Amino acid sequence: MAEDCLFCKIVAGEIPSTQVHADDLIVAIRDINPRAPTHILLMPREHIRSAADLTEAHGPLLGHLFAVAANVARQEGIADSGYRIVTNVGRWGGQTVDHLHFHLMGGRAFTWPPG
Ligand code: AMP
Ligand code: ZN
Repeated sequence: MAEDCLFCKIVAGEIPSTQVHADDLIVAIRDINPRAPTHILLMPREHIRSAADLTEAHGPLLGHLFAVAANVARQEGIADSGYRIVTNVGRWGGQTVDHLHFHLMGGRAFTWPPG
């Protein structure tokens, strides 16, 4: 657990969140400031700063996370209409919390490219 990391505290249950999934490897919570009708954050329990710090060794973790994301999308009723999974890296990428997380967003159409 990294000191002063918001998502480490959420994973540890020290800061409340609305969980939609939790297991040994990852936690999925509802975003506190949703930008779409469904806006969920999937994060590893392990503190990884961003996608820039991922290595080949994280393959199983990521495969699991994306499988859970697809399940959550089905549960949320957005699987058929489609959805977006995005991770922001660094300042210009729009990252505001330095603990790897993937936004699962759906329930409306998105434009491309993102703003
Ligand atoms: P990013 O800007 O890509 O790093 O994403 C961080 C996300 O975390 C934003 O969408 C925030 O709305 C969300 N967020 C910040 N604090 C909380 C919290 N306490 N509980 C749930 N989501 C949060
Ligand atoms: Zn962390």
